[in-house]
Amino acid sequence: MGDRIEFQQGRWIVPDRPIIPFIEGDGTGPDIWRAARRVFDAVVEKVSKGRRRVEWLEVLAGEKAFKATNSWLPEATLDAIRAHRVAIKGPLTTPVGGGIRSLNVALRQLLDLYACIRPVRYFEGVPSPMKQPGKLNVVIFRENIEDVYSGVEYQAGSEQADAVIRFLAERYGAKIRSGSAIGIKPMSKFGTQRLVAKAIQYAIQARCPSVTLVHKGNIMKFTEGGFREWGYEVARQRFGDQTVPEAELGPGKGNGGRVVIKDRITDAMFAQLVLRPDEYSVIAAPNLNGDLLSDAAAAQVGGLGLAPGGNVGDGYAVYEATHGTAPKYAGQDKVNPCSVILSGAMMFEELGWTDVAAAIIRGIEGAIASKRVTYDLARQLPGATEVSTSQFAECIIEHVR
Ligand code: NAP
Repeated sequence: MGDRIEFQQGRWIVPDRPIIPFIEGDGTGPDIWRAARRVFDAVVEKVSKGRRRVEWLEVLAGEKAFKATNSWLPEATLDAIRAHRVAIKGPLTTPVGGGIRSLNVALRQLLDLYACIRPVRYFEGVPSPMKQPGKLNVVIFRENIEDVYSGVEYQAGSEQADAVIRFLAERYGAKIRSGSAIGIKPMSKFGTQRLVAKAIQYAIQARCPSVTLVHKGNIMKFTEGGFREWGYEVARQRFGDQTVPEAELGPGKGNGGRVVIKDRITDAMFAQLVLRPDEYSVIAAPNLNGDLLSDAAAAQVGGLGLAPGGNVGDGYAVYEATHGTAPKYAGQDKVNPCSVILSGAMMFEELGWTDVAAAIIRGIEGAIASKRVTYDLARQLPGATEVSTSQFAECIIEHVR
């Protein structure tokens, strides 16, 4: 029998036997979840010498939920996550073109998980297309509710799209080709500032040197440009004595131990992350930019199989693999479980079980260094032995010392 995690006055209160709901996921989800759970249980037990244990609570979403309840995202799942506050999930299928809306998007919006946090770092020995992949070590805070995730989109030729086109032409003289599809990109000061504030708080706590606001404000002046402006504003208003804008750093002037707030236009940022990755630390980005940037950055250090993520709000958090369900490998005990395992490490870190998080990372570092790795790494790593998902999990556990 476990106890609930509580959130009081901005802090997590975590019992020794916390109940944590999990969603196994579709496709390869069950393979990687099984392996991840085995690692979590073994590491928690080892590190706490048996004092702590997670009581995992399965909740349904995706195909498994649909089969059992006829609903892709049952209300009971949301209630359980709301009640227990922190959950972890494998990837879920998103049927293409119509049908249900993305379950992942629905979960994030219903629990108001407004920050998608994706740390991207290099693990020694992982094959990478870069000459010095170790120079990239960033934590990306991507806005998770607005922008293209707001879900306001109308099909070409639909009554709604035609009505919006007519309205904009008649009222404001906007020129939009008739028959176009329409997507709306809302971005608010409120949504931007709570995301940027979370990124700055993280940077201050983790002693990171900078927070970079990534935007395409040169073209989209009021949405992406707003992100930049509101970002600098919240830094000045809420963290004025702990941050300094890059523009105020002159020759001979240090940053005085403050977090430097920078901004970069999206296309330039892609180039910068390839050319001078060590100049960046925490990154705050609107929804679409953040999505593209996180996958591109993950590719530089070895791909999606190793990229963790957390969707975090105020007092609620759902951690998840950043890759999809990789359905062609489902049930083969083949794919890399590290994305979910590292997401678990992020979760334990957030909950204050930093010893568990650090031990998981040591285990992964050791397993990769031993060159007994899953197919995705083995096919690029000279001298590596390919092992299954479950064998890789055992190898991680062996390397936790
Ligand atoms: P995907 O499932 O991420 O797979 C694309 C490729 O990435 C795979 O074929 C595989 O590459 C590689 N890959 C993914 N997971 C891996 C792992 N654990 N270990 C090693 N390699 C891995 O993308 P997709 O095929 O575009 O999407 C499939 C479904 O997942 C869709 O329904 C999509 O909507 C959904 N999806 C869900 C989430 C989520 O739940 N958060 C995120 C993205 C997509 P190789 O072929 O080279 O081996």
